[in-house]
Amino acid sequence: MPAFVLGHMNPDTDSIISAIAAADLYGKRGFDVTPAAQGAPTPETEFVLKKFGLSAPQIVNDVAGKELYLVDFSDLPQAPQGMDSATVLGIADHHKLGDVTTSTPLEAWIWPVGCTCTVLKNMYDFYGVEIPKNIAGGMLCAILSDTVIFKSPTCTEADRKAVEALAKIAGVSDVTALGMEMFKVKSAVEGTSMHDLVFRDYKDFDMNGNKVGIGQLEVVDLSILDNVKAGLQEEIAKVKGEGRHSVFLLLTDIMKEGSEMLIVSDNPAVVEKAFGVKPEGSSVWLPGVMSRKKQVVPNFEKAFK
Ligand code: MG
Ligand code: MG
Ligand code: MG
Repeated sequence: MPAFVLGHMNPDTDSIISAIAAADLYGKRGFDVTPAAQGAPTPETEFVLKKFGLSAPQIVNDVAGKELYLVDFSDLPQAPQGMDSATVLGIADHHKLGDVTTSTPLEAWIWPVGCTCTVLKNMYDFYGVEIPKNIAGGMLCAILSDTVIFKSPTCTEADRKAVEALAKIAGVSDVTALGMEMFKVKSAVEGTSMHDLVFRDYKDFDMNGNKVGIGQLEVVDLSILDNVKAGLQEEIAKVKGEGRHSVFLLLTDIMKEGSEMLIVSDNPAVVEKAFGVKPEGSSVWLPGVMSRKKQVVPNFEKAFK
């Protein structure tokens, strides 16, 4: 039974491409692995898979008794069922260290960079393994997605360098154009249910004993969301009703480089405490805020203490 290489719940492009790339690398190092995902690809990821002729990993929702290599997360709230009886053999990630633990030594590559695929690019180099052209294309897109085409404050020199090298391998001459094409696909919301929009890029966190959900939609122009905002607000109220203290939905305008945050909370004052701006009604504009990981989660963690 091969070990699963698995990314986080509500998988984004990095989670899926990292699983594919890491499975390729671990496989070439002689480990018995197969890529997996906790759900179907989003439209953005579909675009990337199709563009570079990659197939979506198998979907896995229960990992009881399985061996796992985690990519793009190490937080238990983002893990599937059965984690308590799974064996984690490795982690490649770029988030804060989560609460996954192991009973045996593991190979952990956790770097403070913009994307797990940047870590994996360096792992390929470390082990002297060549990156296949199609996987390089996917990795390149994952980095462009996670760093919002280098605009996110999470973007580092290592991410830029990785993109440069991967573009050469993949034969991509204009990475910005490819990034914009991808974000236009990501921006499309028509024909998608409110539930699917809220959960497209959504994570639950434990903040000082409170269950807090934070979702994010990244679009090339916020006006794209004008017609769905009221529906999204209703939907996050439903999600909060399922036993959460708060649900926040970031509507990120990648061109204006800021986010409107929709708020539903038992204590809306945490928003002002976290960001120093008073919400008007149930939303607030946060200029310069683009990264959930670097600019939103840490502020809320402090505010919830
Ligand atoms: Mg991710
Ligand atoms: Mg990532
Ligand atoms: Mg993201």
